[in-house]
Amino acid sequence: MVARVLDGKALAAAMKEELKGAVAAFKSEHGFVPGITVVQVGHDPASERYVRQIGRSFEDVGMTFSLHQPETSITQAEMVGLVEDLNDDPAVSGIIVQMPLPKHLPQEAVANGIAPQKDVDGINPTNAGRLLAGSGQFFAPATPSGGMEILRREGVELSGRRAVVVGRSNIVGKPMALLLLHQNATVTICHSRTRDLPAVCREADILVAAIGKPRFITQDMIKPGAIVIDFGVNVVNGKAVGDVDYEAALETASAITPVPGGTGPMTNVMLLRNTLRAAELLLAEKG
Ligand code: NDP
Repeated sequence: MVARVLDGKALAAAMKEELKGAVAAFKSEHGFVPGITVVQVGHDPASERYVRQIGRSFEDVGMTFSLHQPETSITQAEMVGLVEDLNDDPAVSGIIVQMPLPKHLPQEAVANGIAPQKDVDGINPTNAGRLLAGSGQFFAPATPSGGMEILRREGVELSGRRAVVVGRSNIVGKPMALLLLHQNATVTICHSRTRDLPAVCREADILVAAIGKPRFITQDMIKPGAIVIDFGVNVVNGKAVGDVDYEAALETASAITPVPGGTGPMTNVMLLRNTLRAAELLLAEKG
C-alpha cells in the first residue's frame, strides 16, 4: 500500500483564499478588519521567526497584525496589565502569548488573564473547560484544530473508530484527544509511562503523534491502512522531521500527513479562522 499524502500546505492555502473572501465581506459589513496581537517576551530568534510567519499570514488575508515585545525583565504584574489592556482594546480581536515564558512569569497566570473571547489559541482555562465539556462557545488550541480540519476535509469517518493519541500536552495531545472524542471516536491517550506502546498504537485506525521525538513511531507500530496525523516538528541535520518514520509509514498507512507541509501550515490557518470568528463573536456580544 502507498499512503495518500494529506497535504496540509495545499489545504492551508485553499483555506487562506476562503478566508480572504470572508475577511473582505466582514470589512464591507462592519467597516473594520479583525486583528491579532502577539505578545512575545524577549528576542528568541526561533520564536521571532514563527511570529513573523504568523504576521505574514494575517496580512495575506487582509487582517491586521501587531506585536508587543516586552523585555524579559517585565514583571508578572506588568505582563498581566498588558494582557488586560489588550482585552479592553476594541481594535484587538485575538491575543496570542508566545510560549514558553521566562520562569518568573507563570504561564497559568498569563493564560488566565486572556479574555476567553479573544483567546484564539485556546489556552485560557475557560476555553479548556468548555472543550472538555464539549459545550458552549470555545476556542480549541490551533494545532489540534488544524489536525481535525485535515481529517474533516479529507472526509475521514471518525465515529466509532479507534483513535490513539501519543502525547498528552495541554496544547496538542490532550485537546486532540478531546476533539476526536467529540466526533465519537473511541480514544486512547498514550504517554511516556504507557506500557507496550507499539501494541496500543497498532490498534489505531487513526494514529496521532504529538511527542517531540524524531521518527519515534516506526512502521511496526502502525496498523495496515491506518490514518496517521503527525504533529511532530523536530530538526535533524538542519531538516524538519516528524515524530513518525514517514518513509516507512507510507508503505503501511492509508493516509499520512508529511512533515513539513502537513499539520504545521494548518496551525497558522486555524489562528486566522479563530481570529475572524472572535471578531464576529465580539460584535454579536455587543449586540
Ligand atoms: P510536549 O513535550 O509538551 O509533550 C510531549 C508528549 O509526548 C508528552 O505527553 C510525553 O509524555 C510524550 N512522550 C515523550 N516521550 C514519550 C515516549 N517515549 N513514549 C510515549 N510518549 C512520550 O510536546 P508538545 O505537545 O508541545 O509537542 C509535541 C510535538 O508537536 C513536538 O514535536 C512539537 O514541536 C510539535 N508541535 C507542533 C505544532 C504544529 O504546529 N504542528 C505546534 C506545537 C507543537 P509525558 O506526558 O509522560 O511526559
